[in-house]
Amino acid sequence: MLNLAQFIIQIEAFNANVNIPLIRKAYEFSSNSHAGQTRESGEPYATHCLEVAFILAEQHLDSATIAAGLIHDVVEDTPVTIEEVKKEFGEEIALLVDGVTKLGKVEFKSREEEQVEYFRKMLLSMARDIRVILIKLADRLHNMRTLGFLKEDKQKRIARETNEVYAPLAHRFGIARMKTELEDLCFKYLQPKEYRFISEQLEMTRQEREEYIRQVTGPIKKALIEEGIKISISGRAKHLDSISRKMRLRNLPLEEIYDLLAIRVLVSSKKECYHVLGVIHTLWKPVPNRFHDYIANPKPNGYQSLHTTVFGPADKMLEIQIRTNGMHQIAEYGIASHWLYKEGRQQMDKADRQMSWLREVLDWQKDLSNPSEFLEYLKIDLLQEDVYVYTPRGDLIHLPAGSTALDFAFAIHTDVGLKTTGAKINGKMVPLGFKLKSGDEGAILTSPNQKPSNDWLRIAQTSKARAKIKRWLKQQGYEQSVSLGQEMLERELKKSRISMPKSAEMEDHAQSLNYASIEGMMAAIGNGTLSVKQVVTKIAPDKNAETKPTLVKRFIDTARGGKGIKIQGIGNMMFRFAGCCQPVPGEKIVGFITRGRGITIHRADCPTALELTESPERVVEVEWDVAKDQAFIVRLDILLEDRKNMLRDITEAISDLDGDVRGAEISGEGSPVTGTFVIEIKNLTHLNRVIQKINRVKGVISIERAKGADFAPFGKGDDENQIK
Ligand code: MN
Repeated sequence: MLNLAQFIIQIEAFNANVNIPLIRKAYEFSSNSHAGQTRESGEPYATHCLEVAFILAEQHLDSATIAAGLIHDVVEDTPVTIEEVKKEFGEEIALLVDGVTKLGKVEFKSREEEQVEYFRKMLLSMARDIRVILIKLADRLHNMRTLGFLKEDKQKRIARETNEVYAPLAHRFGIARMKTELEDLCFKYLQPKEYRFISEQLEMTRQEREEYIRQVTGPIKKALIEEGIKISISGRAKHLDSISRKMRLRNLPLEEIYDLLAIRVLVSSKKECYHVLGVIHTLWKPVPNRFHDYIANPKPNGYQSLHTTVFGPADKMLEIQIRTNGMHQIAEYGIASHWLYKEGRQQMDKADRQMSWLREVLDWQKDLSNPSEFLEYLKIDLLQEDVYVYTPRGDLIHLPAGSTALDFAFAIHTDVGLKTTGAKINGKMVPLGFKLKSGDEGAILTSPNQKPSNDWLRIAQTSKARAKIKRWLKQQGYEQSVSLGQEMLERELKKSRISMPKSAEMEDHAQSLNYASIEGMMAAIGNGTLSVKQVVTKIAPDKNAETKPTLVKRFIDTARGGKGIKIQGIGNMMFRFAGCCQPVPGEKIVGFITRGRGITIHRADCPTALELTESPERVVEVEWDVAKDQAFIVRLDILLEDRKNMLRDITEAISDLDGDVRGAEISGEGSPVTGTFVIEIKNLTHLNRVIQKINRVKGVISIERAKGADFAPFGKGDDENQIK
């Protein structure tokens, strides 16, 4: 067990620039907060925090990450709040701690749902700062190392989750060291008998193996000294989990798995890698088809190395890996290697491919509404090994193993996928379900008339393709409901000899029935959630009574999943502007995670928003990210004198300043009357100028922005329904 003094000596050895006062402060904070708590092992809780921080320091991570490691459990397991952490340690560390903290205050229907929301939150935080996953993995690694203290059922549950999610995540981000240790620990708890057998066998054959390694490394060293190349060489047994997998895969006993050993040669340049390869192939004959050039074609997680298998001394098969020291660093520490002797958030350009995986997950998860689907898809996505396929232009596309031609089409582009009629692999027409192999060259045939069908869900294997197909099918069902609803209403109105109202009036009815649009209302009629009679009653409450004057409300939902907002620093995520407050650029805004419908953007001072901030775990940081020509919709309620040409004068005032009037109506009799103007503007400054200008129009008494609960153009209670 480490104490603070030893810990500090150790971490200074890993990173001479480490901020010792910060580390001390974090340690004090952690041990004070966790005072009195113990682990199942009986040790004080703070030792866990120290061990987690040590695992992070070993990866040469920066001071902020190590400090966050020390206090990673204070919000989850002690009364300390994230605000206190922010006050004590600042925004950066608070974000890291928050990223690994469970959504404590929310009530979930099931453990599964809680798990799903936790993973979602973690992925979102990772996209913002990837160090979140490094802390989570360090936490999980120490918990796995001390799993023996827990009851067996808990051991199995945690090991299974580690095996399905955390070890594959470590792999995705190239952290081989972490992945290997996690997998071996999972193996130990999930298959204890097999684990014991293999480790005993390895122990028994250790001397023999070490002797063999000497027989291999000796000649390599000698040959390379003669060539004047400086190398470092090491040999060791592969890790237990991978040995057991090999035994199962090849159905062979341990003594017949020759390539138990991995010999690794490290050199200082890429050129030398190929030189060493040449020398080794001269010493021993290579096994055909076992050479991989991951230097020219890095693995999706960034791994680079040359792999070859040769018939070594005594004709035993032996795998040799050759790479530079820099590649080795990346191979062992993956994404963490960006922090080697560096402090603070790092640019992730080198790791783009790892980040693009993350973005992809964040993208397809939006198309799934069911939490269990998300978890299932995530696991599939994580567990599959990769194959790579070339496009006709020679671009390399990475796909999970088992992917089909249809998955390939969706990997090229969603629009290609949805229009796929056929596929040519290596020049031959194949069925859409054709399973791809690494090195295949694929071309996709499309037709504008093609439509996905339910069968495609059986053909597509990747999470991305399946999510996109499901979304399309759902959308299709929706469109059918809309046209059915339309037909039903028309028929019913005809029967009662009522004419179909104009669309502005119809929109009004839709809203009073709590639908965001006419389309939404028609879909509800079509799928049976709204009776057609109810709508007819709205349209003609009493055939003799005069129909109410209608209010023009041609609101456009400016951005459902569109542009204009960055969510926690990421663009193009699914969001919608709240109808109740219609924020415009320049105004303070806040985002809320809604169930299954992405994120809703409110004005920070909107009454609904204030109510929602009572669930802080659903609040996300958002910022404006407006495209040049983007316009926003605002409704103004104007009290004015009833005079001739009033409507024209106000409209002119608005268009003089390049504001676009989308709808206007004056209602009431005798001055003053209320005018309702729906206008399109660019931002807050623009809006204020327009308001000033209208104010100067003769006869205008007051102007008010529609806000809060008074006004809900997309259906009242929209948000309340989503957040429970
Ligand atoms: Mn922990």
